[in-house]
Amino acid sequence: MADARYDPDNIFAKILRGEIPCHRVYEDAHTLAFMDVMPQGEGHTLVIPKAPSRGLLDADPATLAALMASVQRVGRAVKAAFEADGLTLFQFNEAAGGQTVFHLHVHVIPRREGVPLKRHEGGMADNAVLAEQAARIRTALDAQG
Ligand code: 5GP
Repeated sequence: MADARYDPDNIFAKILRGEIPCHRVYEDAHTLAFMDVMPQGEGHTLVIPKAPSRGLLDADPATLAALMASVQRVGRAVKAAFEADGLTLFQFNEAAGGQTVFHLHVHVIPRREGVPLKRHEGGMADNAVLAEQAARIRTALDAQG
């Protein structure tokens, strides 16, 4: 069961309800993936479960299974879309662990040899750039089948 502190008005819950827009790249019955508005690298994508949980520790195992399946699917597409050499995943829990939005999410960031990540919570990306990148990832997902 979700942690009693789960706030149904957190930003990602609002994105799930369609109250806040996002650059969507993938959605299925249990998960949603969209562009991070303050990317640490080109193609930085977030994958979240639709079920409410604050983080990893209060999530149902079935939710985690669906989430990781989507992380793999989106990760493959992101890596292909950006012709990346590798992929970095982050998942933060509680403020002390670096978490700032308290709805479980996994960061998926394509990586190029020798290119460092930008600061977490750095600058906002241009909307048009994020839209183009989301389209590129969706095309790679379609190619994956
Ligand atoms: P964390 O909780 O793991 O520290 O990070 C939350 C992430 O959500 C950050 O990387 C931040 O850039 C991203 N973020 C915060 N607010 C929004 C928002 O309104 N829309 C999107 N797409 N991403 C957001």
